[in-house]
Amino acid sequence: MKLTNQTAIITGSSSGIGKAIAIAFGQEGANVVVNYNSSRDKALEVVKQIKAAGGDAIAVKANVGKEADILKMFEKAVAVFGQIDIVVANSGIQNDATFMEMTLEQWENVININLTGQFLCAREAAKHFVAQAKGQTPVRAIGKIICMSSVHDMIPWAGHVNYAASKGGVLMFMKSIAQELAPLKIRVNAISPGAIQTPINKSVWSSEQNMKDLMNLIPYRRIGQPEDVAKAAVWLASDDSDYITGETLYVDGGMMLYPEFSDNG
Ligand code: NAP
Repeated sequence: MKLTNQTAIITGSSSGIGKAIAIAFGQEGANVVVNYNSSRDKALEVVKQIKAAGGDAIAVKANVGKEADILKMFEKAVAVFGQIDIVVANSGIQNDATFMEMTLEQWENVININLTGQFLCAREAAKHFVAQAKGQTPVRAIGKIICMSSVHDMIPWAGHVNYAASKGGVLMFMKSIAQELAPLKIRVNAISPGAIQTPINKSVWSSEQNMKDLMNLIPYRRIGQPEDVAKAAVWLASDDSDYITGETLYVDGGMMLYPEFSDNG
């Protein structure tokens, strides 16, 4: 049990990667705040699953793009569990269009949830970590922040400029706050998944031809599962990675290895 007596807020944990992280954190002994925006029933199901396995969890509705919602979610977490030790800023959406057809609304919506949402969650997390640790001389991290990024923080993605720009933003956001918060003993890292089988990319894995095409991009020749990312998140949240901050861990079956060049380019 690597996260015993710690409380974790995981945004967007009603589905996909966030859900797997919530369940894995619960198994490691953490109290889990299962955040959702629209999928209340799915969030309650995750809470049920964590409790059935002997953990503790609550579901909290908050739109990560809204400051007031974030503040309330942190207040609720403290009221129920006493303190907050880990925040995984995971919520994210896609809203695709070719560049010239992309509306301002599509651009702003994705930037707001995928990037501004991470800013609001991480800022609130840092404030709580510092306030909680007042008067202590910590030997380990007083708090951990994990930003959910994507291989598209490095790989350009035509037809998805809002998404790629948001994740490119997360990369530099994460590194800048990691630099600023390290002296305060707060660790900040990112996970950049490749293709993980969740509702966000159902159009890919529900078509045989699309899956075949996808395999050309994955040297390890399988689509990732949410649990692959959850295992990395447990490690980054635990003291096993205590000397690691400002890093991005690519969980992508080798997608970042320029697979197009595997056959002589
Ligand atoms: P998913 O299954 O569609 O889950 C998205 C989650 O985000 C849901 O729990 C959803 O909650 C939540 N969410 C959406 N809008 C929100 C808002 N305004 N406020 C709070 N929560 C909101 O997608 P996923 O694949 O697990 O994606 C999770 C993260 O991983 C995203 O940041 C995504 O960019 C990243 N990622 C995924 C992949 C992949 O291949 N799947 C690859 C790279 C990166 P509700 O349903 O309750 O609204």
